[in-house]
Amino acid sequence: MHIIRKITFIFILIHTVYYSFGQDRKVYTRQDSLRGAITKERAWWDLTYYDLKVSVRPSDSSISGTNSIYYRVLTPYQKMQIELQKPMKITSIIQNGQTLNFTREGSVYFIYLKDIQEKNELNSLTIEFNGQPKVSELPPWKGGITWSKDKNGNDFIANSNQGEGASVWWPCKDHPYDEPDSMQISLTVPQNLTGVSNGRLRKVVENDDATKTFIWFVSNPINNYGVNLSVADYAHFSEVYDGEKGPLDCNYYVLSYNLNKATKQFRQVPEMLEAFEYWFGPYPFYEDGYKLVEVPYLGMEHQSCVTYGNGYENGYHGTDYSSTGWGMKFDFIIIHESGHEWFANNITNRDVADMWIHESFTSYSENLFLNYHYGKKASSEYVQGVRLNILNDQPIVGKHNLNQRGSGDMYAKGANMLHIIRQIVNDDEKWRSVLRGLNKEFYHQTVTGQQIESYIIQQTGLDLQPIFDQYLRDIRIPTFEYSVIGKQMMYRWSNCLDEFNMPVRIFINQKAQWLQPKTEWKVLNLNNEKTTVSMDPNFYISNMILINK
Ligand SMILES: [Zn+2]
Repeated sequence: MHIIRKITFIFILIHTVYYSFGQDRKVYTRQDSLRGAITKERAWWDLTYYDLKVSVRPSDSSISGTNSIYYRVLTPYQKMQIELQKPMKITSIIQNGQTLNFTREGSVYFIYLKDIQEKNELNSLTIEFNGQPKVSELPPWKGGITWSKDKNGNDFIANSNQGEGASVWWPCKDHPYDEPDSMQISLTVPQNLTGVSNGRLRKVVENDDATKTFIWFVSNPINNYGVNLSVADYAHFSEVYDGEKGPLDCNYYVLSYNLNKATKQFRQVPEMLEAFEYWFGPYPFYEDGYKLVEVPYLGMEHQSCVTYGNGYENGYHGTDYSSTGWGMKFDFIIIHESGHEWFANNITNRDVADMWIHESFTSYSENLFLNYHYGKKASSEYVQGVRLNILNDQPIVGKHNLNQRGSGDMYAKGANMLHIIRQIVNDDEKWRSVLRGLNKEFYHQTVTGQQIESYIIQQTGLDLQPIFDQYLRDIRIPTFEYSVIGKQMMYRWSNCLDEFNMPVRIFINQKAQWLQPKTEWKVLNLNNEKTTVSMDPNFYISNMILINK
């Protein structure tokens, strides 16, 4: 019964992931292109700063506010593209004291600037907006805003909009390629509640109308889906972690009645930081600190403000994502969502089609956490266990310029691809230096998947392109075909790309041996007539024995 429950659970999990990630048979519209491409109306200006001010009104589930957008002119042009999704609406746009005209096309606003935009000039405009933002149907997978109540009847409000984009609640340049260099977020909330956002709390202002304004400042580039809005009756506690770059402030905001549970469960934060700084390098946002904030949904990787709703228990909502037992050794949300600080927030995809940069590395971070605290065997068993979640339905890389992610296999299959590469590198110190190198080379940048692949190929000096192509862009799992006749073994790869040539470790009479199969047959001379052959389970491949006599 337990197993059936587990499988059902995994199916639901995968189904939801798939539901939101599926791209099959989708007909692409002009809205998809406007959203997913770096259009002319986006390309001419470089975002430098957002000053977002938001009032949250639980009484009618509405939000109103202003966003001042600061930018540098790259190429003079006077038409600007901004997104804000219905039913939210922009009511006015002002630049240099002048009211600007704008038109709306679905979620896209085109703004007609009056002043000539000079190259390299720094400009800004202020957008006023309001409305009742889309209510999240299944947070965080089908997101928007969640308006809920805690057990004491207090408002418990949070955003989750990774798929929908930040423009589901505030107007912004809703494409991952361009991030502001810094951002201020001011949350005005009823005076009995606390508003939590990214970065550091600068100031709390008591207003005359029974509200308070919490002013937060993020001093690093931030991806817009990670901008956080959490409002609740929070209790706060903190600690200082002695990390690679010095003292790191860790702040925790939890529902007041969960304080005891949280102080116990969040002991995993320093354990997480220790493991991830070892594998990936320093936490990427020391200036902004690290936060864990309780929300009414499972969790999300909001930058320097990781959201948490895993019920203060280990596993994934109390279930082992890997079915190996190892998944119950840690709190999936603390580990996974914090792993995203390195892969998603530090290194961000320029196009969501390359979202494997976020999810493959972060899924892989789960077994590196285990590796650090429980050893290599735990890590290896875990990554094999998560294969139960792979669908091989569609390629992991999605369609570019259409705001289209690839398959949900970017999680478990992507983690397995990285685990295979680790085997082939066959030198954990070197592999660790590649992972740390990625976080240094692409520090606070938005990148393409190809940049990540090229960097790994260059640093390892290995011919990994066929592996990336096979596991990221094809759905077939390569088959190691072999036959043993007398003292001769023949072997090849099948069910794969023609150029697939991945080295593989197999065991011949229990002795490890590396082979370099190609899609053409190769021959290996054996010492004995009676030979047993088995695969190294660290490779996510299938195998087929044709003859053994
Ligand atoms: Zn993730």
